[in-house]
Amino acid sequence: MSADDKRYVIPAPSQPALAIAGSSQLFPVRRIWCVGRNYVEHIREMGQDERQPPFFFAKPADAIVPDGGTVPYPPLTKDMHHEVEMVVALKSGGSNIKPEKARDCIWGYGVGIDLTRRDLQIASREIKRPWEIGKAFDASAPCGPLQPAAKIGHPAKGRIALKVNGTVKQEGDLNQMIWNVPETIWKLSEMVELAAGDIIMTGTPAGVGALVPGDKVECEIDGVGRLTVTIGPPKK
Ligand code: MN
Repeated sequence: MSADDKRYVIPAPSQPALAIAGSSQLFPVRRIWCVGRNYVEHIREMGQDERQPPFFFAKPADAIVPDGGTVPYPPLTKDMHHEVEMVVALKSGGSNIKPEKARDCIWGYGVGIDLTRRDLQIASREIKRPWEIGKAFDASAPCGPLQPAAKIGHPAKGRIALKVNGTVKQEGDLNQMIWNVPETIWKLSEMVELAAGDIIMTGTPAGVGALVPGDKVECEIDGVGRLTVTIGPPKK
């Protein structure tokens, strides 16, 4: 315990972190940002205007669930959906980062799921209230081990897919993103200052659907990695 820790009136919360593939080291997570509506087919299935620019929302950093983990079925919903997404992890940040400089900020990539209480998200949307209740709940951000860009490069194409109990539900290609990763960092950094430890979920391809307790969810992005989680019963 450092001298500073003694000044806290309660124990300091632990630092959320992501695993690194093939390593015992960890990536500390500062903020989780998510891109809305970044694949045309998903925008169509949600009944939205595909010509709109993407927008951003956030999840709490402690919503991360590691590979092999269990997501307790969350309260208040009857319609929790899976959204498989590529995760971008930043080693540096800034404001107004130009697309041609954005890759310099990236430490690595992983596979994540933007779990969504769809019924609550849509109810919020309809009465013009914020989305948090639908998006930013406990255990809403499963995320697999990161691979460093120094090893895998900067994936701009490749299959992204999600299976539920062995059946493919979502399938797309990273090259179908409307706003690519450098453009996403550029647009987000116009709104907030980005920093080392920030991760960005980059949007989901079509095929989102409901999960129930007992489901085994397996995700894969070619050249990036895998993520498997199980949906558990509600927390008592
Ligand atoms: Mn999403």
